[in-house]
Amino acid sequence: MGLTIVSIIFAAIMNNSSKISFEDTSVAFSYKSDSALKKAHLIFSLVNHPWISSLATSSVKFALKVGLPVEGIIKRTVFDHFCGGISIDNCDDEITALSQYGVGTILDYSVEGEKSEKGFDQVMEETMLTIEKAAKAPDSIPFSVFKVTGLASAEILEKIQRKDTLTAEEQKAFDRIRKRVDTICQKAYSHNVRILIDAEETWIQEPIDDLAYEMMRKYNTKSTIVFNTYQLYRTASLQNLRDAFQQALSGKYFLGGKLVRGAYMEKERERAEKKGYSSPIHKDKESTDNAFNEALTFCMENRERIAIMCGSHNEYSNHYLTVLMEKYGLPNNDSRFWFAQLYGMSDNISFNLAKAGYKVAKYVPYGPVKSVMPYLFRRAAENTSVAGQSSRELTLIRKELKRRRENRN
Ligand SMILES: Cc1cc2nc3c(=O)[nH]c(=O)nc-3n(C[C@H](O)[C@H](O)[C@H](O)COP(=O)(O)OP(=O)(O)OC[C@H]3O[C@@H](n4cnc5c(N)ncnc54)[C@H](O)[C@@H]3O)c2cc1C
Repeated sequence: MGLTIVSIIFAAIMNNSSKISFEDTSVAFSYKSDSALKKAHLIFSLVNHPWISSLATSSVKFALKVGLPVEGIIKRTVFDHFCGGISIDNCDDEITALSQYGVGTILDYSVEGEKSEKGFDQVMEETMLTIEKAAKAPDSIPFSVFKVTGLASAEILEKIQRKDTLTAEEQKAFDRIRKRVDTICQKAYSHNVRILIDAEETWIQEPIDDLAYEMMRKYNTKSTIVFNTYQLYRTASLQNLRDAFQQALSGKYFLGGKLVRGAYMEKERERAEKKGYSSPIHKDKESTDNAFNEALTFCMENRERIAIMCGSHNEYSNHYLTVLMEKYGLPNNDSRFWFAQLYGMSDNISFNLAKAGYKVAKYVPYGPVKSVMPYLFRRAAENTSVAGQSSRELTLIRKELKRRRENRN
């Protein structure tokens, strides 16, 4: 009942104010050539079918495992659609193309599953390169980003969260993790580049949060450099955000928040069921949506000390933030309110927002094809299992292909 009333109020606000529309596909796909658009059409048509998507995913996993030469085809199709390139310099064309339309790039070194200290150091070094590159082009690369599990063993993070006693070796390893995080954030601070810390699974998130707040206390005293991520599909997140704000108030630093719904829902629910604890995820989509929109409102009301990124492909939430900005009399380009989507998805949101003058950026993943595969598998699953998402992409791509055909005639 309460939720319905909230939805009605939202709907009334939306109808009465903001003028942004995400329907203009000529704006959305202006940076895509006809052939790139046709390729996108093929990819989204395929992943839209659950059985094709799952067959393709398992075939690729098998082919990579036994060493079949599939990297070339992956590179020319899904990789090119969702990623910037195999190395940082390989992403230059994408950075330029996006920035021509006022859309920033967030270079996301997406190599996952590193397990060695050498691998963790290498991820840290690569993240530092993204900061250096961002510092040289702050308008086209407005943020850097990293995942703590790129720098740390998930086992140690889990042990810390369980409050198990660490062995002397593990304690040393954790000291190195903290040092890596600090080295990155210090570099971001000294180069004046905002840095996002991604959120991960609930069973390792507490030490990630603790590290993020430690960094904010150090580097967010003058402006918002370090951003932690809040997954609003978690029942605890709204309160965590409020608590983080109170801590920032009393600690006299700025709170940086990336708001997302959350990417690991199935995994979270399965684990909770298997281990017999209650799921940390909201009971349904509507509750997650309400929490997300409430978090936007909270951040808006406390904007004197908060800067946020609305990391979402949800049209309603992106629209709602523009409505809030208008309601509170903020200019579209207020630098405390950022919108972000993933490269290869929801261009209708990114490009129409950028055209209207809002601060917008895209996560652009990069790295060797094989290492980026877990990221690509997640995109395939997301575009298959999230109701409506893939068909929305497909509808828009089809609409634009049709519009271009008609224009030529
Ligand atoms: C720029 C950017 C950065 C991101 N960074 C992170 C990150 O650091 N960590 C992370 O975990 N994810 C991250 N994500 C992914 C994000 O969490 C979502 O998985 C994804 O964006 C889909 O949510 P949405 O807001 O776009 O919209 P929608 O498509 O409207 O929502 C789908 C989401 O709603 C939630 N949901 C769906 N069904 C239910 C249900 N039955 N009950 C409860 N909740 C449900 C799930 O979170 C699902 O992913 C990021 C996304 C973007 C665009």
